Amino acid sequence: MKISNSKLTRNILVAMVIGLVFGIALNFFGLQENAFMRDQILNGALGVVGDIFIRSLKLLVVPLVFVSLVCGTAAMDDVRKLGKIGLKTVGLYMVTTCIAITIAMLLAFVFKPGIGVNPTGTEDYVATEAPRIWQVITDMFPTNPVSAMAEGNMLQIIVFAILFGLAMVVSGKSGQRVLNFFSDLNEIILNLVLVLMLIAPFGVFAKITIVFADQGFAAIIELGKYFLLVILALLIHAVVVYPVLLKVMSGLNPIQFLKNFYKVQIFAFSTASSNATLPVTLETAEKKLGVNNSTASFTIPLGATINMDGTAIMQGVATVFIAQLSGIDLSLSQILMVVVTATLASIGTAGVPGVGLIMLAMVLNQVGLPVEKISLIVGIDRLLDMLRTAVNVTGDAAVTCIVAKSEGQLDEDRFNSDPDAVS
Ligand code: ASP
Repeated sequence: MKISNSKLTRNILVAMVIGLVFGIALNFFGLQENAFMRDQILNGALGVVGDIFIRSLKLLVVPLVFVSLVCGTAAMDDVRKLGKIGLKTVGLYMVTTCIAITIAMLLAFVFKPGIGVNPTGTEDYVATEAPRIWQVITDMFPTNPVSAMAEGNMLQIIVFAILFGLAMVVSGKSGQRVLNFFSDLNEIILNLVLVLMLIAPFGVFAKITIVFADQGFAAIIELGKYFLLVILALLIHAVVVYPVLLKVMSGLNPIQFLKNFYKVQIFAFSTASSNATLPVTLETAEKKLGVNNSTASFTIPLGATINMDGTAIMQGVATVFIAQLSGIDLSLSQILMVVVTATLASIGTAGVPGVGLIMLAMVLNQVGLPVEKISLIVGIDRLLDMLRTAVNVTGDAAVTCIVAKSEGQLDEDRFNSDPDAVS
């Protein structure tokens, strides 16, 4: 069986547009309140299709990351290279996140979204503790690989897969036999990705319809300035910062990058989860962006776990927004604190829907802002979550391309070839 990639991408795009129009129409006529529509269609049939879609993506994450990274590590010609790639990747992930928050906060200081907003109607919102960097490092090392996989703890799975792959390299013939087995397994899992992708158009349609039927535009208009500013900062980051970095640091064509990558952005948008999007991001990085498996299998899962530029942008705007509507002037040290906390916070948090808000509670707590004000923006966060997730995965792929290019791990012919020709 041959699965055509171009048709699939087109179907997903069409599904997204139909879902958008259908959802907005339902909301416009208030049909989402109708009992039949709500219970049988939105929460019923569409809910089931959307959930199956997300579940089948999630199902792939742990086996795909583990098997692919074991193969990638074992195939690394020079093991020291892995350390170098790791350092460069983590460094760039942190730098792009810092740039993201800085842009967001600057825009918020200039456009003042929180001035004139009535800060009433807030409920309790409990802050979590900021992760301590030393604890984050210790927690990367699993005590039990099986439970790391059962919990889907990505950093622990990455560490175990690298150790396992390295041990295979030094195990001579036994290592080679197991590597052959893992290579076959990798092939099978990649085909499983393609098979499960067949339901993607239906899943995307269902997910998008549900969100847009649910989201009243009234709430958005009230917080319009905040909403638009987050989108503006996300746009600047996606269409200015990444393209400039790609061009300047690696000489790669940013337009070609987007052409190859936009399907992943649609997935991220409709799932609002970088983790669930991971199988598609990884497949695209290798097959369309031309990144070698050894690099992509390491940097992409790492990015989905620790790199969240879109989330940082929302946090930057939201922090200034909440400070302004509470009549609090942020000092320079508080601003720096926000940049540092939000960057560290992205490291310790998994890419699942809505997690950005929980992290925001932590950031606010750290600088002494009223955490309960988050409830003001909860209502409109789902749409922003979809958009920022698309930026999150774009950051993972852009950094991966830059690092891969600098290490000679990127096939430029593949990067520059017509993405639809690859199936
Ligand atoms: N949904 C985002 C992601 O998965 C995280 C967030 O900002 O809530 O990347």
